[in-house]
Amino acid sequence: MKQRYALVVIAMSVLLVACGKQEAPAESPDATAGSSGGNSAAEQAALQIQGEYMRGIVAEISDDRYEGRGPGSRGDALARNYLAAQMEAMGLQPGAADGSWEQPFELVGLNTAQPDTWTFNGHGKSVQLKQWDQYIVGAGVQKERAEFTDAEVVFVGYGIQAPEFDWDDYKGVDIAGKVVLIMNNDPDWDPELFAGETRLWYGRWDYKYLTAARQGAVGALIIHTTASAGYPFQVVQTSGTGVQFELPAGDEARSQLTGWIAEGATRDLVAMAGMDLDELREAAFNRDFKPVALGITTSLRMDVEVERVQSANILGLIPGSDPELKGEVVIFTAHHDHLGIGKPNEDGDAIYNGAMDNSTGVAQVMAIAKAMQALPEAPRRSILVALVGAEEQGLLGSEYYAANPTFAPGKIAANINYDGGNIWGHTHDVTYIGFGKSSIDQIANMIADEQGRTVKPDQFADKGYFYRSDQFSFAKIGVPAMYLKTGTDFIVRPPEWGREQQNHFTQVNYHQPSDEYDPNWNFTGMEDDALLGFWTGLAIANADEMPSWNPGDEFEAARLIALDATD
Ligand SMILES: [Zn+2]
Repeated sequence: MKQRYALVVIAMSVLLVACGKQEAPAESPDATAGSSGGNSAAEQAALQIQGEYMRGIVAEISDDRYEGRGPGSRGDALARNYLAAQMEAMGLQPGAADGSWEQPFELVGLNTAQPDTWTFNGHGKSVQLKQWDQYIVGAGVQKERAEFTDAEVVFVGYGIQAPEFDWDDYKGVDIAGKVVLIMNNDPDWDPELFAGETRLWYGRWDYKYLTAARQGAVGALIIHTTASAGYPFQVVQTSGTGVQFELPAGDEARSQLTGWIAEGATRDLVAMAGMDLDELREAAFNRDFKPVALGITTSLRMDVEVERVQSANILGLIPGSDPELKGEVVIFTAHHDHLGIGKPNEDGDAIYNGAMDNSTGVAQVMAIAKAMQALPEAPRRSILVALVGAEEQGLLGSEYYAANPTFAPGKIAANINYDGGNIWGHTHDVTYIGFGKSSIDQIANMIADEQGRTVKPDQFADKGYFYRSDQFSFAKIGVPAMYLKTGTDFIVRPPEWGREQQNHFTQVNYHQPSDEYDPNWNFTGMEDDALLGFWTGLAIANADEMPSWNPGDEFEAARLIALDATD
């Protein structure tokens, strides 16, 4: 009952905000003015969301001068300074706890000397794998040496332990001191099991590493296939070499080594044991699967350069106008970092500019901030603009914020995240990653409808995008979240055109030096998507009740704990 009432209240607040477009209040201009700050005034403020403004930000921070904005680098600091200055210029208030723009955090950088070859012995044979083409590994510990000797190799299927699905690939088998081979993704053939084709956290490499470490594995290798990863091995190569950053280690279990092994190389190893990879995988589709020891051992010793660097989240605040609700907040996020300088491509370009990923997201959030700031009266709840760092290294900046939030988790009404904008023009639809999970859906639906657009859930659900950008850090502490991405149905284009563009971008430019700003990029779609986030965030900030997860959602329990803690 209570929930239903809350929804009606939210819906009304949305209508109040979103219907202003048609109903120009000619006779009684103040009739609808109120908590929303007045519709026509909000419409006026929304005009601040301009493609050309976003273009300027994208062109700036993806320029070679920013050196790809690798965490802790000169370019990273340059981008942070630029963005803080932009926030200051638009009139935001510094949002960090100490009254500054930056929420600093320490990162531990690990540069692992990956051996050129890696030997596996067993069954009277020996196989040597080649680094780069066949494996990409790194230290799992924050120490100057990662090593193990004569570790047994064990195939552990998906490497998942999920009591709610009655699934445990480890089955209590002793994994201590072993190297595990793990299939990527999660079971996807049954809608009742791991949400069918939708990838859950269980299907992500970070979950698999963590679980293997908890079993005592000294090494965890994910078997790469393009289908199960959602990207080619090339992305593993470019993302998995050079300095890898982490938050400083706590007392959690860690393996000596984590990494990826190419499918063909795995096939060779398994064949050495007289087995067949396809048969092993077939067995792993079953609940009754048990880890399979291959009768192969391996040793590895890697030197690791350990460095400690500082990066920061940039936080800008618009304090709420309601004396009671200003202690609650809607947080807009986009990550400002990218991969920095890395291995040169064929053209000798070594700067990973990250123009699409994620200058475009930063630009959309900055445009939204500008519009929020232009409201004659601030929304009832506060608005926090959080441009987070070190996302590419595993959502580290947002994870740090979630562990050290400037508003208690139970006071964070919602997170609206942008990562990778629409560079191709107007769409009939918009992708909302996280759709179907919370009551934000109703608001986004109504506002998209007002735009003459439709909201679609993740069109590539098997790729697990919900767990691959910063909203995941917020969801883990219970905050309902929406991650807006480009639609697929482009105006005056053939139906498949949008998917083709996006797939092409993933194959050719994603996490490559060629993710560069192109003056031909069309920012009209980004205007639409930023407007959707603006109106949705405004409605949430002005509603009587905060959004909630749908009953039974994987993050509902975390929300209840967070709300309890702030009561
Ligand atoms: Zn990104």
